[in-house]
Amino acid sequence: MNFASAKKALLEELIRMRSDGVDRIFLQDETFDDFQKLLLPNQPIVSESENTGEDFSLNERIARALPQSSSPKENASVTDFLLSEPPSFLIPDGTKQMKWEWLREKVLGCETCNEQLNPKANVVFGEGDLDADLFLCGEAPGADEEMSGSPFVGPAGELLMKILSAMGLNREQVYIANILNWRPRHSQAFGNRPPTQEEMDFCLPYLKGQLEIVEPKVVVALGKTATDGLLGHDPKRRLGQIRGSWHEALGFPMMVTYHPSYLLHNPSRTSKRKVWEDFLLVMEKLEMSVSEKQKGFFL
Ligand code: URA
Repeated sequence: MNFASAKKALLEELIRMRSDGVDRIFLQDETFDDFQKLLLPNQPIVSESENTGEDFSLNERIARALPQSSSPKENASVTDFLLSEPPSFLIPDGTKQMKWEWLREKVLGCETCNEQLNPKANVVFGEGDLDADLFLCGEAPGADEEMSGSPFVGPAGELLMKILSAMGLNREQVYIANILNWRPRHSQAFGNRPPTQEEMDFCLPYLKGQLEIVEPKVVVALGKTATDGLLGHDPKRRLGQIRGSWHEALGFPMMVTYHPSYLLHNPSRTSKRKVWEDFLLVMEKLEMSVSEKQKGFFL
């Protein structure tokens, strides 16, 4: 394959991934360097702050420009994280509140979850109405969430709140959780890494526990990772093909839609309308009244 067709193939794959709801691609340093060499073959990147004659990749330049942590964790690579077996437990009898508090304590005290944390970060457990009909499941905490300890409080959370508000709901009337209880660590200076299958498998019992306690009428999987986490990984699955229809996840009716951060990166009227149409189906399933204004709404 010549260079022009390789570039074309790469672009087509990126377009396909975007139409499938993928809003980020996590590149290891080595892959990033290979891309640089391929796309900018004659332009070695030299650190501006230390002109030592060495070449540095863009990632290294960013990392060097930021304050360095003394913690080895922060500079670890994805493959450094080996997790223990997924937890196995029985939630003791009691009220929903008692069960939720028991599980929350368990997750916040989970040794593996705590070992995965970035410095000063928190384990993030689900929260909301324990009698909620609607259970929203995201991917993993981001920078804002790991600091606050609550799911969906950053920019993606703000957009999610707008969607809820358009439905006539607020944060306190639904339950919000994530597939993963910590923000996945990575060696890059910024951005988020999608969770690995091993990480998702580890946290799944905690998510199942929350679903068993809340017993929602509907689960909404926000994005591809949440969908894979809830349905199991399937390399052939295309979010663009399965969104907007009903599925079953762990015994609960599940709607799949794009993640709010996908909309933040692709704010086209078409993608926003698709997400809103998915939520209109959720409203219908929950037997909520839908006004003409809501039917014609664009996020
Ligand atoms: N994205 C998620 O998937 N979950 C959060 O809690 C925040 C951002």
